[in-house]
Amino acid sequence: MHLLYYRSGPEIFFSGNFSGAFTGHCGRCLEEFNFSLDQTFDLVLTPEPKRSGHRAAELHRDELGLSYYSSEEIDLAPLIAEQVILALPTRSLCSEDCRGLCGKCGANLNSEPCSCANADGDPRMALFRTLKVGR
Ligand SMILES: [Zn+2]
Ligand SMILES: [Zn+2]
Repeated sequence: MHLLYYRSGPEIFFSGNFSGAFTGHCGRCLEEFNFSLDQTFDLVLTPEPKRSGHRAAELHRDELGLSYYSSEEIDLAPLIAEQVILALPTRSLCSEDCRGLCGKCGANLNSEPCSCANADGDPRMALFRTLKVGR
């Protein structure tokens, strides 16, 4: 992760990027899969309003949607964590065309078609079953 910052007057501008490998669980087939993120972000921190003289600013701080820092220390961890969460895919699938699990036997259809899919899909198999039942 890289993080650059510079000050412009009282405001501190952060420009950074993070990249890394993550492990997710596919929403369809439940398999673990790895994906990587490479995301840039920008943050602007403004100094916490002083008690003296800026009463109005303090009253409205929640409405402004800005992140404040107090002069002693800046805790970036929650801010960066927020950026990471925003960058995560909202719906995690191991791949766009994941076939998911068979509704009957629970087989992972990505690795191989299960036997129930074959039985349903092949008309010759259906005929075979009919013959067996009728005997
Ligand atoms: Zn999947
Ligand atoms: Zn199956």
